[in-house]
Amino acid sequence: MLETSEDTLDPSDWNAFRMQGHKMLDDMIDYLEHQRDNPVWQPMPDAIRQTFQQPLDLDHTDLAAAHNIFMGKVIPYALGNAHPGFMGWVHGGGTPVGMLAEMLSAGLNANLGGRDQAPIGVERQVVQWVRDLFDFPETASGLFVTGTSMANLLAVLIARTARLGVKVRQKGMTNNDQQLVAYTSTSAHISLTKAIEIAGFGSSALRKIPVNQQFQIDISALESTISEDKKTGLTPFFIAGTAGSADVGAIDNLKSLAELCQREKIWFHVDGAYGALGMLSPDIAPHLQGIEQADSIAFDFHKWGQVPYDAGFILVRDSQLQLDTFSSPAAYLKRETRGMAAGSPWPCDFGPDLSRGFRALKTWFTLKVYGAEKLGQVISNTCALAQYLKLRIEAEPKLELLAPVALNIVCFRYRSIDANRINAELVIALQESGIAAPSTTTINGQLAIRAAIVNHRTTSRDIDNLIDATLSFGKIAAQSQV
Ligand SMILES: *Cc1c(COP(=O)(O)O)cnc(C)c1O
Repeated sequence: MLETSEDTLDPSDWNAFRMQGHKMLDDMIDYLEHQRDNPVWQPMPDAIRQTFQQPLDLDHTDLAAAHNIFMGKVIPYALGNAHPGFMGWVHGGGTPVGMLAEMLSAGLNANLGGRDQAPIGVERQVVQWVRDLFDFPETASGLFVTGTSMANLLAVLIARTARLGVKVRQKGMTNNDQQLVAYTSTSAHISLTKAIEIAGFGSSALRKIPVNQQFQIDISALESTISEDKKTGLTPFFIAGTAGSADVGAIDNLKSLAELCQREKIWFHVDGAYGALGMLSPDIAPHLQGIEQADSIAFDFHKWGQVPYDAGFILVRDSQLQLDTFSSPAAYLKRETRGMAAGSPWPCDFGPDLSRGFRALKTWFTLKVYGAEKLGQVISNTCALAQYLKLRIEAEPKLELLAPVALNIVCFRYRSIDANRINAELVIALQESGIAAPSTTTINGQLAIRAAIVNHRTTSRDIDNLIDATLSFGKIAAQSQV
C-alpha cells in the first residue's frame, strides 16, 4: 500500500493558533489606532533590507516569530499611506473595516473566476451599485481588476473590438486596412500610453492633446487634430478623458468630450482613477457631468474609496462588447444551468483573468458599513482640506501656488533662487522627517511640491504641520545653498 500522510497545513493546536491570531489582530488594530504617534515614513537601514535577502528556509519558523519580524521590520518601514500625514502620489488610506473584510476573504479563499457561488453575487451587487452611481443602464457590465492601469487597458481592448469587430481576436492587428488612432491630453496618466502600447497600436497612435490653463484637455485642439487625422486617412477610435488628473487633479470637460465622441462616433472612455468616485459627493458630482455618457469608466476603490489595495474597477456600457472581447470557450470551463457550473456568464468572461480574488468583499463591507453618504463626506472633506492648504500657501510670502486647485491636489513651491533644486531637497527632507510626506511633479518646467489629500484621516492639523515643516526645511535648504 502507498504510504500517505495525514499531515495538513492546518495548526495542530487550534487553541494556540487562536490566541496567536487574536494577538496579531490586536497588534494591527493598535497600529491603526496609534498611527499619529509614528513617523509617516522612515528610511530603511541596511540591516532591515538584509532581513529580506536570505535564502529560502527548508526549516519552519514559528508563526509568532514570523509575526515578530513583520512587526519589527516591515511595519515601521512601510510607505505610511495609512498615516494622516501621507500626501504623496494618489494613495488611499485604507480602513479598519476594510482590514477585517480582507481577513474574511482570505479565510474563505474564494476564487471569483466563475461558477455558481454567493461571492459572485456580492461582486454583482457592487457592479449594480456602480451602474446606479454613474447612471448606466441595467445592461452595462462591470468587473473588479487590480487597478485603473489594468482597467484602462481593458477599455482600449474593448474599444478595439467595437471598431474592428471580433475578428481582431483571430487576425490580430496586422490584417486590417484601418489605421486606428487614440486621443488623450498631455496631463493624462502614463497607464493610457502603456495600454495603447500593450494593445498593439504603438504609442505613436496615441495623440497627446495640449491642456488649457485649468489643465483640462483643449477641446478645439482635439477637434482639429481629429479632423487632420481623418484627412490623412487615419481612423480615430478612442478618446480618454480624465476625471482627476494625477498631476494637479484637473477634470476634463467631460460633457464636451461626450458630445464630440457622439458626433464623431468615437469610443468615449473616462480615466476616473480617483476622481470618478467624486460621484459620491454632492459637491463634486456636478463637476463630473458628462461621465454618465461614457462608453467605459476606469476607476479605483483603493484611492478615494478608501478600500484596501487593490480594488480597481471597469464599467462598460455595452456588456456584449466586453464579452466579445474576452469570453473564450474551453472544455474545462463548460457551463451548465444547474450545479456548480451554472450562473454564466462568469467574471472570467469579462476580462483576461481566470483566477480572481474577492476584491468585491472589502468593497461591499466598506460601502455597507460606512455608507455611501459618509464616504462622500470624506471625499468632500479632502477637497476642503486642499482649499485650506491653498489659503495657507497664499498667506505665506515664502510660498507660491503653481496650479489651480480643482479637487484635492495642491501643487506649490518654496520661493528661492535655484528653486527646482531647493524644492526637490525640501521634499526629501520632509519625507525623511516623518512629519509630512508630499511628493513632487513638474508644472510648466517648475518642480512642484505636490500634496494629494486622499486619506480620510488627514485633518487641518496635518495641513498646518505640512506648512510649518515646509517653511523650516525650506529655510534650511535655501541657507545651505549660499
Ligand atoms: C492612480 C491613477 C492611475 C493608475 O491607477 P492604478 O490603480 O495605480 O493602476 C491612472 N490614472 C490616474 C488619473 C490615476 O490617478
